[in-house]
Amino acid sequence: MTPFRNEPIVDFARDESARRAQAAAIEGFKAVEAPLVVDGRRLPLRDAIESTSPIDPKILVGRAGKATAAQARKAVEAAHAAFGRWSAVPPEERAEILVRAAAGMRARRWELNATMILEVGKTWTEADADTAEAIDFCEYYAREGLRYAQDPPVTPVPGERNRLRYVPMGAVVSISPWNFPCAILTGMAAGPLAAGNPVIMKPASVSPIIAWKSFEILEEAGVPPGVLQYLPCSGGEVGDLLVDHPLVRVVSFTGSKEIGTRIHERASRVGKGQRWLKRTVIEMGGKDAIVVDADADLEAAAAGIVASAFGFQGQKCSACSRAIVVGKAYRPVLDRVVALTRALRVGDPRDPATQVGPVVDGRQLKKVSDYIRIGRREGKLVAGGRRLDGPGYLLEPTIFADVDPRARISQEEIFGPVLAFTRAKDFDDALRIANDTDYGLTGAYYGTRTAEAAERFHVGNLYLNRKCTGALVGGHPFGGFKMSGTNSKAGGPDYLRLFLEAKAIAEKV
Ligand code: NAP
Repeated sequence: MTPFRNEPIVDFARDESARRAQAAAIEGFKAVEAPLVVDGRRLPLRDAIESTSPIDPKILVGRAGKATAAQARKAVEAAHAAFGRWSAVPPEERAEILVRAAAGMRARRWELNATMILEVGKTWTEADADTAEAIDFCEYYAREGLRYAQDPPVTPVPGERNRLRYVPMGAVVSISPWNFPCAILTGMAAGPLAAGNPVIMKPASVSPIIAWKSFEILEEAGVPPGVLQYLPCSGGEVGDLLVDHPLVRVVSFTGSKEIGTRIHERASRVGKGQRWLKRTVIEMGGKDAIVVDADADLEAAAAGIVASAFGFQGQKCSACSRAIVVGKAYRPVLDRVVALTRALRVGDPRDPATQVGPVVDGRQLKKVSDYIRIGRREGKLVAGGRRLDGPGYLLEPTIFADVDPRARISQEEIFGPVLAFTRAKDFDDALRIANDTDYGLTGAYYGTRTAEAAERFHVGNLYLNRKCTGALVGGHPFGGFKMSGTNSKAGGPDYLRLFLEAKAIAEKV
């Protein structure tokens, strides 16, 4: 295989034919019926999850099957039963399937983008970056599967022939979030599949339709029946069953701290008939900060803060929700960020000129609005703060100034377009504030003391003199510290190892 390269993101401003194709895909989008798929069989749609658009909840994006407890149990049993077959498929064949899936995504790019624009309110560029990342995960993990199929060197022992082999583990439950509904969902299936494990794909209930399309593409690419289950269901109702099931070998989760800690605890219990300690891969939230030093390029810092805070409406685990600015740089950076933010175009993401779309659903709208109310007490509102008229869940990008580092809006993950500005006395004070939260996912430092920042800024993904969002597969293996999770480093060389165990074989010669 050729060396891995990131899939380029389309520049819609320059590429006229891409612009036309994307507009046509949005225009021609048809609501989809997505049945549950368990053990290779499509189950008739009875109880359904209705996926509606945050642009206007009257727009139906599709209806997906909603698994019952009995169907979820069957999905686990099917995945467990498929383990022998799938783990016996040569790694080269598994890799070819994933490379074909990447090609399938390229072929259906405009449709995938349109689905995310409608289902979760991504702008064109954010949607395309999500599709490109899904393609990257397939291509990258295909190659990683081949790498792990090679035995690593072991120290020679006289009189023996010794090997260390990596072997797949068993049924993996992949529970994914809605915010990168194609990329993260696809990556959380492709990784364990590349390593030889069957997967139960449990998408977020907000985004089952883009998940269906990813499933279809993987199936068409050749993932055999029973190896990958498409199992939308209510996490609140059926999630515990999936996590607790004794035939599950690995629980892989990306989502909130609240659910992640619950899964961590439950998965540690040994169920009746369970023959292993479950492994968990748990990636959670962030309270990511950008630190701007007094000697930074203030214009670059302001642009980086705005892009990181308000891209996809701040609904990224990597989003900047705290700007910590040193001394005399505080006022100019704040003023510039406010000016750039006021210039952002907020509106319908079907329009390619829109830069900030709606938040994902009514629940999210309420949660973020509640935090804006809290922010009004904790800081000085200097931009935004209102909901915009119309059927969509549109919130103005919102900035609070002069926020205490221990305030709730400085400590709790809001997951929306809300940014808190805090003044720091000096570099040391800024890093102390930046590190003083439960989370440790991403962060950025603008200034010249980059070596010290690299040592002392305690986050899993640190960026120096650039924005703190936009991690690339391969280049920026992703996963945080502290309450941000188990540091899985998705899109990196350690990821597949999480779905493998090592077997040492020593033969007397
Ligand atoms: P969430 O509410 O925790 O949901 C995540 C997934 O867990 C969904 O599929 C959900 O299903 C399911 N779930 C809910 N309750 C469950 C239970 N009791 N047992 C098992 N599964 C259950 O998170 P979200 O709102 O979708 O996503 C946003 C969060 O994800 C943010 O905190 C963000 O920072 C984090 N995130 C982290 C990363 C990272 O790499 N660290 C990346 C992206 C997002 P339902 O949808 O059916 O409830």
